[in-house]
Amino acid sequence: MKIRANTQWGTLVLTLAMGLGLAAQTSAPVPRQAVAPKRTTPALVVMIVIDQFRGDYVQLYGKQWTKGLHRIFTNGAYFPLGAYPYSGTVTCAGHTTIGTGAYPRTHGMIGNAWFDRESKKSTACTADATVNSVPFGGLPGVEHHGPKWLQTTTFADELRIQSATAPRIASFSLKARSSIGMVGHAGDLVVWEEDSGTWATSSAFAGSARPDVDAYAKAHAVYAQYGRVWDRLMPVSAYLFNDDGVGEVKNDGGAITFPHPQTRPEGKPDQTFALNWERSPFADEALADMAITFSEGFGKGAGTDMLAVSFSALDFVGHRYGPKSHEVQDVLARLDLQLGKLFDTLDRRLGAANYVVALSADHGIAPIPEQITAIGLDAGRLTAASVHTRITDAFKPFATDATSPIASGNGSDIYFTPAAMAILRSTPAARHAVTDAALTAPGIARAYWGDDLAMASAGDDAIKRAAILSYSPGRSADLQLILKQYWMVSSTGTTHGTPYAYDQRVPVALMGFGIRPGQYLTSASPADLAPTLALLTGIILPRAEGRPLTEAVVR
Ligand SMILES: [Zn+2]
Repeated sequence: MKIRANTQWGTLVLTLAMGLGLAAQTSAPVPRQAVAPKRTTPALVVMIVIDQFRGDYVQLYGKQWTKGLHRIFTNGAYFPLGAYPYSGTVTCAGHTTIGTGAYPRTHGMIGNAWFDRESKKSTACTADATVNSVPFGGLPGVEHHGPKWLQTTTFADELRIQSATAPRIASFSLKARSSIGMVGHAGDLVVWEEDSGTWATSSAFAGSARPDVDAYAKAHAVYAQYGRVWDRLMPVSAYLFNDDGVGEVKNDGGAITFPHPQTRPEGKPDQTFALNWERSPFADEALADMAITFSEGFGKGAGTDMLAVSFSALDFVGHRYGPKSHEVQDVLARLDLQLGKLFDTLDRRLGAANYVVALSADHGIAPIPEQITAIGLDAGRLTAASVHTRITDAFKPFATDATSPIASGNGSDIYFTPAAMAILRSTPAARHAVTDAALTAPGIARAYWGDDLAMASAGDDAIKRAAILSYSPGRSADLQLILKQYWMVSSTGTTHGTPYAYDQRVPVALMGFGIRPGQYLTSASPADLAPTLALLTGIILPRAEGRPLTEAVVR
């Protein structure tokens, strides 16, 4: 299993293996600059997450790509059956799973937010009131993000712990939960964008704003992009489906169909402009440019450095316009160009064979429900209130006072007050009544009590197993409701977060150092990427639950 590329003989073995892999498994062309590595470990690990990049997009939209996405899926090792096995398929859980190689039950990032029983408040997965924003570019920073809730170490953390030379680590995303989830507890540069359009890190990662990043943020201000027009990259005939799809939601003050000018009625940028900019491919351009700029010099030392980038625009666009939209197709076609630029830059700096890319997504996305009902199939939207009212009414006969038994709920994760929970624990009839009531709500398929999940074994029930893998004692909800297929607690557009394949299935792909190209039809999880990177870099991950994808590693 060891890569013996440090000897002449090892180089030969590796070169042969790569050649055989290509001939046997794909008809793809040989990667550009396919030079056998001269190193025993990769110079650079590049972790790329595409937010909401659903598994089937590669087959569906792949013909629209010619650069970076095309390259990794044709010249890399590609696992089209990649999928998350857990139920809480959201951004924080997904990025942390990719970063750690573990599942939410272990890393603790069960959702983007949860109800913290101690403070009795909804808590974002990166919330930490003890740290402060460190904004770049002279703009005000107001958010408080850190890795406080992360319960295990990431691949990047272990690289820092175990490497003989200190690695350089940088992470970029629009979202703090993505940037932090990929690298964990520290990094030379861990950057996100606050909703106001301010690039920032926090005192959890840096004492002050790095002058070079500060200067860059000043010179590349989000607000300076005011007035750009997002139009189609390709001729309209190259896009599948309709631009004006059923149930699409336009950007604030914007249009349902192309073009999408980045302007405001007042004629100047405001916070809504910044939010609309996040929902455009211009945000991905900015992330790619920062990744290229601030990884200059990475991979030049004896050890392994790490660059992580999560491209967020697809998620913001997909929630509104849906997975069949021209907007989603355009974001991907433009990201293909940005990734091409990133890989070309790294080829020039390091040589294509000396760095390894690991690419996946944090979750998929459901179809817009109205597009399902339009063809006569079951789908729908439910409100949290309809679920909570049923539960509260069913609990009334057992209540000792008139206060609501629900401390917090979003329609599918229900936290009870300690008093109500005491009754629900001691009175089986109360528990049955609440469970039955929840199951009568439209769109609810199953109900799991947390204390049952903590002790359960799933057998061959994939949905129950999914709920167990997302369950963190003390942090997860008391009652977890699983929605019916194609149902959502969202009043417009579409969303994700269920144990169904449209949310779980994402591409898993690797390329470069030590990777045997080909299309692998074995099962794979995004949690397998960190163990594979660990194998390539000679690192041990103490609590990984994924497996190294050995079939794609050159031996
Ligand atoms: Zn999302």
